[in-house]
Amino acid sequence: MNEMVSNTEKLLHVMTFGCQMNEHDSERIAGVMGLEGYTCTGDVEKADLIIVNTCSVRDKAEHKFYSELGRLRKYKKAKPDLLIGVAGCIAQQEGEKIIRRAPYVDLVFGTSNILNLPAMVKRRVEHHVRVTEVDFDREYNMLDLPADRGDGLKAWVSIMYGCDNFCSYCVVPFTRGREMSRPSASIHEEISRLAADGYKEVTLLGQNVNSYGKGLEEGVDFPALLRLIHDIDGIERIRFVTSHPKDLSDRLIEAMAELPKLCEGLHLPMQSGSDGVLSRMRRGYTFAEYYDKVKRMRQAVPDLYLTSDIIVGFPGETDEDFRATVRALEMAEFDSIFLFQYSPRPDTQAGTLPEQLADDVKAERFNIVMDLQQKMTLKKNSFRVGMVQEIMVEGASKKGSELMNGRNRGGAIVNFEGECRRGELVNVLITEGLGYCLKGKIT
Ligand code: SF4
Repeated sequence: MNEMVSNTEKLLHVMTFGCQMNEHDSERIAGVMGLEGYTCTGDVEKADLIIVNTCSVRDKAEHKFYSELGRLRKYKKAKPDLLIGVAGCIAQQEGEKIIRRAPYVDLVFGTSNILNLPAMVKRRVEHHVRVTEVDFDREYNMLDLPADRGDGLKAWVSIMYGCDNFCSYCVVPFTRGREMSRPSASIHEEISRLAADGYKEVTLLGQNVNSYGKGLEEGVDFPALLRLIHDIDGIERIRFVTSHPKDLSDRLIEAMAELPKLCEGLHLPMQSGSDGVLSRMRRGYTFAEYYDKVKRMRQAVPDLYLTSDIIVGFPGETDEDFRATVRALEMAEFDSIFLFQYSPRPDTQAGTLPEQLADDVKAERFNIVMDLQQKMTLKKNSFRVGMVQEIMVEGASKKGSELMNGRNRGGAIVNFEGECRRGELVNVLITEGLGYCLKGKIT
């Protein structure tokens, strides 16, 4: 996001918690307020408007939000004209309760109210009232909102909103509503515009991209959408998140194998290796079904980078259930995982299950899985030493460093030696596989 500013411009600071969906919503907040003369600043102390874009998927993210919000109070004391707004999933769920808990908050708005932000700011300033807007509007999702992406190279593009799955632990269907796909022509138009602006990589976003197209009359499913996007000149890499295992189709596996711009990275949340836990989570697959899809994807896509989400300590998870998850991790050999200790979320069915596990049991299981996955990631990264991989250059690895930095097609970070420019695709010989990244040099 651009930080050049004149004396008359107002400054916006957006703090983002949670997933890529929230990151993209923050870009939209910046885009909408950019049209009102606001410029983004990374310096919270200089801001005239601070928006905290929240995530309620995990209990920990919610605690972090409230402690960050507490820290903002001092800025308001120092600068009484400062406006503080809360957006995102916690705002959607809690509404006015946030203002009751933190009376220095000026605005609270939900996941489909971003376009109204300028009007909310105006009401707050002119009528001196605190404003809450959390009405859910399905049609909002179809609007082509401006987004201040700032990056210039890689862009997130939402292809669908909401979720119909109602996994028993998840708040998303309550905070983002039911699933709704964007028409393919509107997605194609947005990505063509991005290509014309010099963007080279897009990541297609949705809670369950594999069910894209459901409810649209045009008959374009997710693999068909990928083929449409693949034809856009200038776009060199296409990624997507998140794939629900139950909806991962043979046609997607074929598309991954056939389309050269489609990167060899797949995020496929497994959540648990125990069929009993998967059933109580309402995930709609068994571990055998999950593993069969992994094997078929790996056959079709050599050197697939496979990542996953795992929850330990789900209500009623026995020692045997946990051992099944450990066995599943050893079999699936993920490149990396996002690991969570289960925490009950409001409105969810799993939050009401009687057999909630003690915190120390959850923590112990978390540590066992973390340790196992760290070894697995190191093993998989070490296996790639000696390979030559295509890297899209992002810039210097650290400020002042001579090493460059980029991502391989699987999505892993690679730090490397050699002369190159941001945005270039270069071939890098991998010389070292570490626990968190790869190292190499341009060939
Ligand atoms: S698929 Fe399940 S976990 Fe993912 S967003 Fe939908 S309800 Fe939540």
